[in-house]
Amino acid sequence: MASIFTKIISGEIPCYKVAETEDYLAFLDINPNAKGHTLCIPKKEVDKIFDLDETTFHGLMEFSRQVAIAIEKAVPCNRVGMTVIGLEVPHAHVHLIPLNSMDDARFMNKTKLEKEEFEKIAAAITSFL
Ligand code: AMP
Repeated sequence: MASIFTKIISGEIPCYKVAETEDYLAFLDINPNAKGHTLCIPKKEVDKIFDLDETTFHGLMEFSRQVAIAIEKAVPCNRVGMTVIGLEVPHAHVHLIPLNSMDDARFMNKTKLEKEEFEKIAAAITSFL
């Protein structure tokens, strides 16, 4: 069965898109640790990030780097942190999280946002790409 992220890639499930290339997609995490929390995924569906082939893995890192730089310009924060977990969605992804404190990195203090705020943040990040 296709992963929820593959359904996002195909457009079956909506997302707040930040960036897209032929091989990668970045969109806002629906349950963010902090404003601007973004997920970067390869379009190729592979569960564990370190099982990606070398080219896709390095491409994902470079794509994530470019998105992180845009997030840092768009969202006031101390820095952008990068985390890989993957316990919930079995489709390799990188979390890019604007950090102001360790709490933002902990996946425990979640931030509730309205649709309009998600749209505004996604557009702001995109504008710096
Ligand atoms: P994990 O697999 O543990 O790295 O966590 C998966 C992440 O994906 C969580 O932070 C979820 O909030 C996020 N997530 C799950 N479904 C969606 C969705 N439809 N759109 C955006 N983010 C999602």
